[in-house]
Amino acid sequence: MSASHHTPAAGLTDTGLTRASNEDALLIEPPLYAVADGMGGHRAGEIASRVALEELLASAPARLDAKALGRAVRAANRAVIAAATKSRGRTGMGTTLTAAMVDGASLAIAHVGDSRAYLLHEGCLERLTDDHSMVGELIREGTLTEEEARFHPQRSVITRALGSDANMVADVFEVEGYPGDRLLLTTDGLTAMLADEFIGEILMAEKEPERAAQTLVDAANRAGGYDNITVVVVDLTGTPAQAYSPRRGSTASGRRIASRLLWVVAAIALAAAAMYGAWSYARSRAYLIDEGGVVTVYRGVPGSFGGVSLHWRVRSTSVQVDRLELPLATRLRTGIPFEDVASALERADQLQASVAPTSSPDATATPMP
Ligand code: MG
Repeated sequence: MSASHHTPAAGLTDTGLTRASNEDALLIEPPLYAVADGMGGHRAGEIASRVALEELLASAPARLDAKALGRAVRAANRAVIAAATKSRGRTGMGTTLTAAMVDGASLAIAHVGDSRAYLLHEGCLERLTDDHSMVGELIREGTLTEEEARFHPQRSVITRALGSDANMVADVFEVEGYPGDRLLLTTDGLTAMLADEFIGEILMAEKEPERAAQTLVDAANRAGGYDNITVVVVDLTGTPAQAYSPRRGSTASGRRIASRLLWVVAAIALAAAAMYGAWSYARSRAYLIDEGGVVTVYRGVPGSFGGVSLHWRVRSTSVQVDRLELPLATRLRTGIPFEDVASALERADQLQASVAPTSSPDATATPMP
């Protein structure tokens, strides 16, 4: 990583729990970030993803330029095709590629395949890319729901990749974010295991990009780790160039997760594993939230996962939210996350002392069963 850059970023790739090798690859070379998910078997996928990222880095523009980034992805495609026909790989190998160039809070995204780019903005996780996959197309047609797609037997069939078609076209676009937004690039080893809502909770809860990356990978492994898992987390800085304008996909919050059970037995087992992962993660966390105008301590994470809420009230306090500073009161509306219940209780006591310095912190607190 270049020392002249101050953009906080971290990436992690993990083989997962069931695959013999890791065919994913990632690139963190500010201002360029990318993930690739190789395929082809007999280690060809490993070669494909690495060749793609090497060529992307070699051909990428020096600064944010969506068209030039698109050209670099086409060069990467040619490099994978060339490698497949020469000694480095095998015919039929290919790779996804999801790349981002970052300049302050501005992004250029280039994307091929079913890896994804997401942007976390004020607690809302927005998917920036469309999956180039069979199930992705069925979702866009309205034939499948997001949740059905995550467990679909053909979920890994992709309709566009690097390495097969010399005339392949990448999706290329620009996005204006805000400072404080968080970019996530990820392969399907994460998104097949965890619902978008849960990914968003983790990205909100973990302040440091390194911790966020590690927690995402751990959660995917706890949910089963059926595939290689790769994540790149980039915190956007700088001044907002324009109004926030989502350009692609639909908002994650607009897609409510269907709660009906699937009929495939394997899918139920996978869902149970994912739910257990979500549950055990939620049990370790805590947050403060405005409930009926008073600060309330909860164990868990706000919202729900797969239609099931993963939070448990610890206690309400006597701290009136309208007596707190506005920024704090605003954050309390959606919840302020903490590492554990003890930290949340400690913060609640501090708030109590700050608004009523003469009263005993626990005098009016209501212990919950
Ligand atoms: Mg994969």
